[in-house]
Amino acid sequence: MGKITGFLEIERQVEAYDTVENRLKNYKEFTIPMKEKALKDQGARCMDCGVPFCQSGCPLGNLIPDFNDHVYKGRWKEAAKVLHATNNFPEFTGRLCPAPCEESCVLGINEDPVSIENIEKNIVETAFKEGWVIAKPPKVRTGKKVAVVGSGPSGLATAQQLNRAGHLVTVFERDAKVGGLLRYGIPDFKLEKEIIARRVRVLEEEGIQFKTEAYVGKNTSVETLKNDFDAIALCGGATVRRGIPIKGAHLKGVVQAMDFLKQNNQRVDGITGFKEDILATDKNVIVIGGGDTGSDCIGTSNRQGAKSVTNFEILSKPSKGRPAHQPWPYWPMRLRTSSSHKEGVERFFSISTKEFLGNKNGDLIGLKTVEVEWIFKKGERR
Ligand code: SF4
Repeated sequence: MGKITGFLEIERQVEAYDTVENRLKNYKEFTIPMKEKALKDQGARCMDCGVPFCQSGCPLGNLIPDFNDHVYKGRWKEAAKVLHATNNFPEFTGRLCPAPCEESCVLGINEDPVSIENIEKNIVETAFKEGWVIAKPPKVRTGKKVAVVGSGPSGLATAQQLNRAGHLVTVFERDAKVGGLLRYGIPDFKLEKEIIARRVRVLEEEGIQFKTEAYVGKNTSVETLKNDFDAIALCGGATVRRGIPIKGAHLKGVVQAMDFLKQNNQRVDGITGFKEDILATDKNVIVIGGGDTGSDCIGTSNRQGAKSVTNFEILSKPSKGRPAHQPWPYWPMRLRTSSSHKEGVERFFSISTKEFLGNKNGDLIGLKTVEVEWIFKKGERR
């Protein structure tokens, strides 16, 4: 385990951020790396619980107490091996995961939990820096060919697992570059795209083939896939927009997050000449939706130079601490303030939009909203 008395002596520490002023100037990641000593100290806080709830809270079942211990003792290579045993791409999860492991950490019952996600990210970054993440092609090929449709996180992980099993894998991606939602949904300030490219290079060296601008069912026929491959794995993401079916939803100025974020990610990637630019520059922006996607739209709007950014959330404002009905180790619905929120936004809760108002030119000029109250029937969980 970590240091026996570590959790009593050492306080939780997480990565610091660059100033808001600096980070709004570009789309780069803005975390300030922790020193090795600080990371070891954080590993030392782990109690190596008999029943490690962190591990069951992690959807991947990451072997968290094991890698915490390796980090505490400075055994980074072993930590990387343990981490990769359950996690194909810790460089993505270490940046993007909401960290349910930390909400279920036993230390979190009465103290701040172990900073597991930061440790995870630093293990894999050390592994890349030291050259430990190298291609490991299978020793034996089965002769079977598998088509993987979609190159988002699930497509990439599926491809790596099938390739490791010895099958010949080809990944089909409808967009111009590999990564799916990682590339086109997540802004660069949370995940710089070189991080995806770095991993894809390893996958290619392992023997996986990627075919981009291959839209299965459109320019790539399903029959071809059926004829050319022994199996097909469907790993497409849910890019279907969730619109608000209310009056005025067609007005100029009402934009779907998936279109806004995708275009901006393409712009950051150097692509220009869009049919229509979707920009928040010099506009008063209202972001509807208080989740991660809404937060990404807030961060992007501020970087584009919006005049003001306001956020509407339909649910009531949660408490800062754990609500009584979501005790440890459950995931709590509590007030979360993201780095994007801290960059500038006015947040409103319990707001439902009933109508988008337009002028005679079809431009959005306002929103009609109501304040809502959530009433739960007896026995219903909030
Ligand atoms: S629950 Fe927390 S303290 Fe316990 S093993 Fe996991 S990370 Fe360590």
